[in-house]
This record gives sequence, structure tokens and C-alpha cells, in this order.
Amino acid sequence: MTERKVISLTGGRKTKRAPQMADDAAARLALPAFEPGWVWLVGAGPGDPGLLTLHALNALKQADIVVYDALVDETVLQFASARATLEYSGKRGGKPSPKQRDISARLIELARQGKRVLRLKGGDPFVFGRGGEEALALVDAGIPFRLVPGVTAGVGGLGYAGIPVTHRDINHAVTFVTGHMAGGAIPENLDWPSIAKGSPVIVLYMALSHLGAIAKRLIENGRRADEPVALVRNATLKDQQVLETTLGTAAADVARTDFKAPAIIVIGDVVRLREGLDWLGALEGRILKRDPLNVRAKKDAG
Ligand code: SAH
Repeated sequence: MTERKVISLTGGRKTKRAPQMADDAAARLALPAFEPGWVWLVGAGPGDPGLLTLHALNALKQADIVVYDALVDETVLQFASARATLEYSGKRGGKPSPKQRDISARLIELARQGKRVLRLKGGDPFVFGRGGEEALALVDAGIPFRLVPGVTAGVGGLGYAGIPVTHRDINHAVTFVTGHMAGGAIPENLDWPSIAKGSPVIVLYMALSHLGAIAKRLIENGRRADEPVALVRNATLKDQQVLETTLGTAAADVARTDFKAPAIIVIGDVVRLREGLDWLGALEGRILKRDPLNVRAKKDAG
């Protein structure tokens, strides 16, 4: 490998190994061949194509057909081979979204036609992505499948906002929650009092429309109204937007700023780290705060 100088994000200069091209890496790793009649369930990550895994790239290059979801960014699809058919499986133009049953049936039909079927999903297929349901339908139909995990919005998307989902000075646990049931209502079968008491950091998927109701329930169960909350819209994409608010004011701030989905939401003191860790903001000139939790300041005083 050649040595090349790279400039690190913090501005210091380091000598590092030059990154090999992804194709080269795929060849070196002898990534698997996509056999006809197989379905690969692949996570596309939250949006930035740089977050695709090598397995995802390898799948895109070989697939005959890519059946993709609403949350898969178009820039990711450009890595599909030119001969591949791209088939959208999400909601379009106000029409209701296709039923999960129909999508599974379609995957089975395509596999039975002897196609290499790439089922591409936003984030990770097994995190609120119905990947398990689709995989079970494939197993039921005797269709061989492979799973390629992806970077989930609730971890990587928050990372792009400079928010770690765990931080030793703050939390040793994190809970991922969906704010939306199949029917669209706030999940009633969740033990909200236990989540409020037991989980210092809560990451909410699909929760924008129920944020007010969820915040109310958490506050009723002991969470502070001034607890920090961040919402990240279009996380990892060029138009990523971050709204910092509090549990008590989140719903009103969402309405006031007309903040739209898709958004990943995080509740908890890890949001305070953003002042020190907003690396994307720093690329545009934001001065990062040292010791944003005042940990060192406290230690020095004590
Ligand atoms: N399987 C996906 C989640 C699908 S559920 C994953 O692992 O990330 C859809 C929800 O994911 C959205 O409502 C939103 O809450 C979140 N989400 C996915 N991609 C996102 C993105 N780029 N920015 C913000 N939120 C995102």
C-alpha cells in the first residue's frame, strides 16, 4: 500500500495508509457471489453513500433487480449496475404504501424467476425495518437469503449530529423506541413508566407526529421537562437539519419550525455533548466547546 498524507478533521496532519478503492477491497476480501434465485436483504444506511458497507456495494454491483424503500437515498442507487432494474416499493404520490405481504410476495416471485434480488432498506434492515418479516416470508417460501446489516439512523444518524448514543459520564444504557405502530397510533403496549425510569437515553424512530404525546408521558413518569432533546432530519445527507430543544418544548418547537420527517429523535443528556462534538458544524467553522459536560471543571474544583 502506498503512503499518502491526509488531513484529519481536527486539522492536524498525519501520515496514514491511503484508502484503497472499494472495488479493490471487495476483490481482496473475496466478497460473496450473488447467486441467481437468492434474495439479499441489505441495509443502505441512513443516506450518505459513504456509509454503505462493502457487502452492500458488492450486492449493488451484482444485483439484477433492486427493490428499494422510501428511505433509500437516490445517491446510493447510482452504485447499482447499469443493467439492474430499480423497483420502488414505498409510498408514492399519495397512494397508500404497498402492503408488507405484497412486498414479500414480490421478492419471492422475482427470486423464483431466477433473479438476483437485492432488497434495499434504509438504515439497518433488522431495526424497525421489517427485515425480519421479509426474511421469514423468504424462509417460508424456501428462498435462500443473506442479510447485510447497515448503519442505523439511531446510531449513525445521531453521530452525524455530534451526539453519541452512549457516553460514560452520562449513560450505560440506551433504548430504541418506535413512536408509531402499524396503525399509526402511539405504541400503547410499551411500558412507558419503566422506559422513563430505566433508560437515561431514549432514541425514537418514526415519532415526529407523536412527539408531544410521548414527551407528556415521559414527563408524567418523572423525566425533567428541561431534559435536552435533539431531532435530526435527513441525517447524514447534505440537507441534514438539527433541532435542539427540550422535552417540555419539543412538540411546540417542531410545530413552530415546521420540522418535517424523516427525523430521528434523541432524548437525554448526551445531547449536551453536541456543543463539543458537532464535527460537521466544525467543518463549517463552528468552534467546538471543550469539556461540554463540565466534567474536568468539576474534577478540578473537587
Ligand atoms: N431501518 C431504519 C429505520 C426505519 S424506520 C434504520 O435502521 O435506520 C424509519 C424511521 O427511521 C424514520 O421515521 C426516522 O425516524 C428514521 N430515519 C431513517 N433514516 C433517517 C435519516 N436519514 N434521517 C433521520 N431519520 C431517519
